[in-house]
Amino acid sequence: MNILVCGGAGYIGSHTVRRLIKEGYEVLVLDNLCNGHMSAIAGIPFVNADLCDQSALKQVFHDHKIDAVIHFAAYALVGESMGQPDIYYRNNVVGTLNLLESMLSTGVKHMVFSSTAAVYGDPLQLPISEDHRTVPTNAYGATKLAVEEMLRWFGQAFGLKYTSLRFFNAAGADPAGDIGEDHDPETHLIPVVIKAALGLIPHVKILGTDYLTRDGTCIRDYIHVLDLADAHVLALKMLLGEGRSAVYNLGSGEGYSVREVIKTAEEVTGRMVRTIEGDRRMGDPAVLVASAEKAERELGWKPECSRLETLIYTAWEWHRENPGGY
Ligand code: UDP
Repeated sequence: MNILVCGGAGYIGSHTVRRLIKEGYEVLVLDNLCNGHMSAIAGIPFVNADLCDQSALKQVFHDHKIDAVIHFAAYALVGESMGQPDIYYRNNVVGTLNLLESMLSTGVKHMVFSSTAAVYGDPLQLPISEDHRTVPTNAYGATKLAVEEMLRWFGQAFGLKYTSLRFFNAAGADPAGDIGEDHDPETHLIPVVIKAALGLIPHVKILGTDYLTRDGTCIRDYIHVLDLADAHVLALKMLLGEGRSAVYNLGSGEGYSVREVIKTAEEVTGRMVRTIEGDRRMGDPAVLVASAEKAERELGWKPECSRLETLIYTAWEWHRENPGGY
């Protein structure tokens, strides 16, 4: 089976590519390298292309026999999306429309799509299951929801088969040590906390201390990138086998506050993490915690390495060995 992985040089994409290859799939990575890294996909067939470039996409599907697409390529920062919704809609929604058009024009009808817990907005019930209402509080979540809806309509009209995987907060790194999280600038909590523990940045700014949570800071469900990679392979097998479209949450089911993450990081690393308190970040819901029962029931997926200590430890190892990133 030949799998095109869009955004395969990025953080979650590169971990999934590695897992696919281990499972015997042929992989072609498509990435524009705006956030991806060539060193994350050393030796793997690669096309440098942007999803907004329709002719480049057509060429890829013309030149390669593709059986299915796994689609990670997107802008994914909540804060940034609030200031620049236009570039989020262009890249995430228009880019995916271009990709779907190229797929369908060459008869490729299977897609595993990276969606997000940000589609839910502020939860009415916890943990959040897939049938929870979807009212995003930020433009990033809105673009992912728009794509999910596009997939549903394309399924009805054109027979597209898709799996939307709603990730909660990805973190951690492959314990092999050669791939990990490297964003510039880094805004995600766990790598930011580790950078502070390493002395690469002076402190962590806690973005909001007046949420209605147990300690006033936001609660998130952190999930190991290797568990996400596993889920992609399971979802792909299910999609190519049963051919049934579906939506799944991918989270650990445990929520940790920003302060709890910082405290655990201090314990795991043995280093002190200096903090300062700042304002809320626009668009952030107070709490996001998954129910991933459906993925367990239907895909047989169970997170294996998503204990907070393990997540932080594997991320710590990567950052300690690669303080400047790739
Ligand atoms: N956060 C924080 N300080 C930071 C980065 C993040 O307090 O330097 C908070 C952020 O407000 C959110 C949580 O940590 O409540 C997780 O944020 P992250 O950006 O890692 O992931 P997101 O939930 O936006 O996908």
